[in-house]
Amino acid sequence: MAEDMRVESVWTGADLVTMRDGKYHLIPQGALVVRAGRLVWVGPAAEMPTFIADQHHRLPGGIITPGLVDCHTHLVFGGDRSQEFEQRLNGVSYAEIAAQGGGILSTVRATRNATEDQLVASARWRLDRLLAEGVTTVEIKSGYGLDEESELRMLRAIRRLGASVAADVQATCLAAHAFPPEFKHHPEGWIDIICQRLLPAVKAAGLADAVDAFCEHLAFSPQQVTRVFEGAKALGLPVKLHAEQLSSLGGASLAAGFGALSADHLEYATEADAQAMAQHGTVAVLLPGAFYLLRETQRPPVALFRRYGVPMALASDANPGTSPALSLRLMLNMGCTLFGMTPEEALAGVTLYGAQALGLADSHGSLEAGKVANFVHWPLARPAELVYWLGGELPCTVIYRGERR
Ligand SMILES: [Zn+2]
Repeated sequence: MAEDMRVESVWTGADLVTMRDGKYHLIPQGALVVRAGRLVWVGPAAEMPTFIADQHHRLPGGIITPGLVDCHTHLVFGGDRSQEFEQRLNGVSYAEIAAQGGGILSTVRATRNATEDQLVASARWRLDRLLAEGVTTVEIKSGYGLDEESELRMLRAIRRLGASVAADVQATCLAAHAFPPEFKHHPEGWIDIICQRLLPAVKAAGLADAVDAFCEHLAFSPQQVTRVFEGAKALGLPVKLHAEQLSSLGGASLAAGFGALSADHLEYATEADAQAMAQHGTVAVLLPGAFYLLRETQRPPVALFRRYGVPMALASDANPGTSPALSLRLMLNMGCTLFGMTPEEALAGVTLYGAQALGLADSHGSLEAGKVANFVHWPLARPAELVYWLGGELPCTVIYRGERR
């Protein structure tokens, strides 16, 4: 028998939801063949060539999807904002909360005061909630340190989380998240530090896979984002952008012009933004958790993204202020009920297009030969059930790099 017929495992007995090209491309009674943590054959079990497998897993029906990808989170932070959440619902205004030192700056204070160990430990239980429901790839951003050392500490915590779990963790430097209180009166000084010192240090230590910024009236202007992106580009770091969440500033088009992996939020994106994103292959990452919590009414232009062929991803945006979301599956439901995505689009948004938003579409996000063997078995009849059930914990078996997690 030829050496290339020897494999570690074969999985049969379930229907495959491959998500090739962002579609279900269902294979009834499929087979997955794994060698060295990668898929080497995917197709109908009846057509599978003969392999010599160390293990043959015969599943009792159900479906197999690619491992889920959460491509936008802020899981690492100090403290939480549940008290503020309660105050708001008790009628305390945003202005009063801000006057008490609440809002994002309270998270910045708590993050600066946390040790690296504390940041890892507090993020770990949140990360575990996401992983428990089939997530095998997750992105985590810095952005609550807002000084050099605290940003680096957050990124080191993210790398440690990645090394400690059976999941692929991508780190993003979001030092341009908000202006540090110290730079309130000379914001360009913070951008100087980001470009001249922080990003080169991040690059040298291999602490980030991408650079992000928040483009908004209350955050960074398009001109300021341009400076950060030029700094990232000079170091060969890919970029992405929080854009068009609360107003239309042309951030999505700006990001596309830089060849950004993704533009995220996009409630106020325009037709010109959609065109620019389609032209440059920039993924539209939609974040229904923040839309829901902020009770926004302007929905992202899903129909425009469809018309121009902009790939759409969905993510939890897990963060202490605007989206304390610990379930990516809940986001699938919200993407459909709040934004009008189809269940197939929603699932593509947490598989193939989630991977594309991280620059990982060649290796992750679909069940295809050559990709990493990250997949999930669900005892469900059809993929739409992943979107349909509202909350609760669906049983699943997660396979990460070919091994049962
Ligand atoms: Zn975010």
